[in-house]
Amino acid sequence: MTKDRWRPAYIGIGSNLDQPIEQVKQAAEHIKMIPESKFIKISPLYESSPLGPTSQPNFINAVAAIMTCLSAHNLLNELKEIEVKQKRARNVEKWGPRTIDLDLLVFSSQTINDKTLTVPHPEIKYRDFVLKPMSDITLDLKIPELDNVEDLLKKIENNSIMIKRLD
Ligand code: AMP
Repeated sequence: MTKDRWRPAYIGIGSNLDQPIEQVKQAAEHIKMIPESKFIKISPLYESSPLGPTSQPNFINAVAAIMTCLSAHNLLNELKEIEVKQKRARNVEKWGPRTIDLDLLVFSSQTINDKTLTVPHPEIKYRDFVLKPMSDITLDLKIPELDNVEDLLKKIENNSIMIKRLD
């Protein structure tokens, strides 16, 4: 592994079923084991009210930062494997409850838009439950084709139904 192949990646973690705080912590442990990658840090955990159907539990969210030698698609496959390990039921309704949801938010300065992967994740700019934890670990990250995290957060401030930091 040569050093110049290391790239930063940000992963969004969310859960609102089966002890969500534990699910998020367990996902962080799984992320630490992704091959050809180094775990850098995880944000504090946040609790937020669900988007869409509101008759479901609140979500726990966090963002993890890693350095990786994997391609974006291989990293996405690793994230999908973690979701399977944590028994995420597939075919859940959009915005519906889930044991674990892992999103590849940002992958270095790359922009990708194909059948399986869109990075930067297209919904980052609308989601304070992504931007807030991200801002705790990287305020000045410039997201490709968007602003830096701090400015994005200012634009959506007060948009959230409910979000609170847990630790
Ligand atoms: P969801 O379960 O709603 O998070 O959607 C998962 C599907 O979205 C997967 O099959 C992925 O191939 C696709 N996808 C596209 N872009 C991304 C991304 N940046 N992060 C995670 N999944 C993605």
